[in-house]
Parts: sequence; C-alpha cells; structure tokens
Amino acid sequence: MDNKILRDLTYGVYVVGSLDGERKVGCIANSVMQITSNPASIAISINHDNYTNECIKKSNMFSVSILNEESNPNIIGTFGFSSSKEVEKYSLFEHELVEGIPVIKDSNGYIICEVTSVLETETHTIFVGKVINMNKYDNKNVMTYKYYHEVLKGSSPKKAPTYQENIVEEIKGNRWKCMICGYIYEGDELPLDFTCPICGQGYEAFEKID
Ligand code: FE
Repeated sequence: MDNKILRDLTYGVYVVGSLDGERKVGCIANSVMQITSNPASIAISINHDNYTNECIKKSNMFSVSILNEESNPNIIGTFGFSSSKEVEKYSLFEHELVEGIPVIKDSNGYIICEVTSVLETETHTIFVGKVINMNKYDNKNVMTYKYYHEVLKGSSPKKAPTYQENIVEEIKGNRWKCMICGYIYEGDELPLDFTCPICGQGYEAFEKID
C-alpha cells in the first residue's frame, strides 16, 4: 500500500469555531465538505481529543471560517497547534460573532451550522450541520491543504485526519523543524533572527533534523 495517494485527496484549511458556554473556542480543520444544497448542510471531522469537539457537542453549533492564501499563517499556528483549553485564540485575531458563534475576519468568509447528526469513528467525530447563516468577506484564492504543505511548508498536527507519520519528504540541504507547529526550514543555515511563518516562534523553537 502506498499511503501517499491519500495526499491526492483535496482539502482546504478552515477554522472551526464553537462555544464553551460563553467562551469562544476553535481549532483548524481540513476536512469540511458540503453534503446537500437545499437545505444546505456541511460535514466536518474533528478529533476526539480536540477540546472544540466536546464544545460542539454541548453547544450544538459550529462555524467554519474559510482561510485564503493571504490569511495570516499565525491563525493556523494558533488554532492548529494550541488548545482552546489554555489559549484565548480568538482574542489574538480580528473576529466577530455571528449567531453567537465566533468567525475569523481574515478569511474568505464563514458558514454557521446547527448540528443535525453526529457520527463517531474510532478517532474523529463527523458533525453534520444545517447551514443557518453564511457570508463572504473576500474572493481570494482559498488556502488548500496542498498550498499549506507545499508553499507554507506546514505540517499536520497529530490530531488532523490527514496526519501521516510515515511519509518522509525528499531532503534538500539542511533542515530545521519548528517543534511547535512542524514547519520545516530548508537551507544552509537557520538565521538567528528567523521567525516561524506559521506559528511565530523564534530560532530557539527549531531543531535540526536529518
Ligand atoms: Fe512554528
């Protein structure tokens, strides 16, 4: 079996938002798809270990903010590589509440859903939601998962449905890996003033890998 074929499925990069009581919570999802058009419904897949998962179950609501290629990569660093249990993620980025659910403004727009069915798999919950509101902020190229991997050189958090432990990329020159988000820097030497373009960490967060 060659599991690289799974990389040929297409995904976007989305911020899924919800509420823990009145607290805004959210995480990154790459598996979001429209299931029906009339009435419109959306399915998302969220890891059981993600705090946002239990918050969606409690609030029965979620938002999907659709990131574009120009969205601040720190959004991915913060929402994808830290937990809403510890971090007030939305306080770091411009956002608004729609139907009471937080959405990211530095995106192409949002979809707000009310959960209508829940399907459990071994590791992830698939939430199907009826669309109750949606809006477009912008019309830029949407951020695809391929763009995130190949242009931003980001990696999948372990909790992502698309995480693959055993795919080894071809090595070009020296490589340093951001221990926070998995971003790979390639070059002769990692500059001392280097800042991770995904999560904003400095030189000290990087480890040389071979
Ligand atoms: Fe990083």
